[in-house]
Amino acid sequence: MTTQPYDILIIGGGMVGASLALALQPLGYRIGMVDAYSFGTSRQPSYDDRSIALSYGSSLIYQGMGLWDSLQADVTPIRQIHISDKGHFGAARLSARQEKLPALGFLVESRVLGGCLYEALESSTVEQINPAQVVNIASLAETLEITLEQQGKTEKIPCRLLVAADGTHSKVRQLMGGAVTREPYQQTAVIANVTPEKPHQYRAFERFTANGPIALLPLSDNRCSLVWTHTPEGAEQTLQYSDKAFLQALQQAFGYHLGRFVKTGKRTAFPLVLSKAQSVISTRTVLIGNAAQTLHPVAGQGLNLGLRDIAQLAELLASGELEPGSTAMLQQYARARQPDRETVIRYTDSLVKLFSNDSSWLGHGRACGLMLVDRLSPLRRLLTRQSMGFRHRKTRLGRGLPLQRA
Ligand SMILES: Cc1cc2nc3c(=O)[nH]c(=O)nc-3n(C[C@H](O)[C@H](O)[C@H](O)COP(=O)(O)OP(=O)(O)OC[C@H]3O[C@@H](n4cnc5c(N)ncnc54)[C@H](O)[C@@H]3O)c2cc1C
Repeated sequence: MTTQPYDILIIGGGMVGASLALALQPLGYRIGMVDAYSFGTSRQPSYDDRSIALSYGSSLIYQGMGLWDSLQADVTPIRQIHISDKGHFGAARLSARQEKLPALGFLVESRVLGGCLYEALESSTVEQINPAQVVNIASLAETLEITLEQQGKTEKIPCRLLVAADGTHSKVRQLMGGAVTREPYQQTAVIANVTPEKPHQYRAFERFTANGPIALLPLSDNRCSLVWTHTPEGAEQTLQYSDKAFLQALQQAFGYHLGRFVKTGKRTAFPLVLSKAQSVISTRTVLIGNAAQTLHPVAGQGLNLGLRDIAQLAELLASGELEPGSTAMLQQYARARQPDRETVIRYTDSLVKLFSNDSSWLGHGRACGLMLVDRLSPLRRLLTRQSMGFRHRKTRLGRGLPLQRA
């Protein structure tokens, strides 16, 4: 490692950090990316067994980054979303055809996305530093000095802009003294890939039940990616079930929209929390992705929001008008991201709370709401556009266009 400052040092090489490094790569900055794990190892926590619903807007961002061509072969399109509330009438259907688009979004296995990002990083100019941990951050006159611990040794490296993409428990956020509000949902998501008897026909299902939402999203080979929310005790029990008992319990909760469930893969649990940094900027530092906000996966918005953080940051750094890490640049970034961030956090949190409440009048209200969404095209359009990540297409990457440094 040299002591020449990095223009941009990214801490965290998960889905968000690695995507940012690749988005910035054509701009000619000196970029370093640090991760606690060696890339490509199965211990890397960002690339686990979950599958990710990428919104149509996110597919445009990857297109602008030049990655969509290699990803496209491994994604499954979502052509319809079916939203229902168990035990109540009414359902809402959102469809790609109504939007005159090939898909509302795409499902990708996070390991596959990781493989694609790392292949691109291998042939990039991004300097990868791993396995390494950040242990200290000091503010100097025109840079930050980051102390990294790597294989028992410490090293200090300067940078002009530090990007924290180190996830929910961000060490950078802690070291910078950033306040965070945390609200555990007392819910745990159990994920698994399951195979139903009937073809999924590229439909995604969001079914709200008294115990929590069930999302079933289309994957290749007629598999479906399941995200099933439980109480922590319910999740523990669900993990203990035999495959047969698990499929029976799922059948009972989800119903027969896809016929019988015939097969399940490995089950994994994720405790769910809403975590929100009070500010996404501090001295020469910006927080993005889960380090800035961690959401309930009910609406599949976490990575999609993180990709829009990336598109905005890349747009500012491409303009060349503001020095990376300068106060003016950071403030412009925070201002630009606030409306989208606030809307998605509120939307996701309200959805969890509205549909986790079992009061009967709320149940009737939800049923009416779903019927209204189904029947009123402006309302349906608004919800569809929100799901597709279409309401914030102000950046070049957000419109699927490549970035160039001005
Ligand atoms: C069950 C489930 C389903 C989901 N489904 C969807 C979906 O359908 N659509 C969607 O958009 N989102 C979804 N999400 C959310 C999405 O997975 C996250 O928003 C996304 O993974 C966040 O990525 P990240 O890179 O910000 O953080 P992380 O994935 O947590 O990555 C952080 C990285 O930082 C590294 N790191 C941590 N600490 C340090 C340190 N001190 N020093 C160096 N490196 C460090 C880690 O090794 C890791 O590589 C889902 C989440 C869950 C739990």
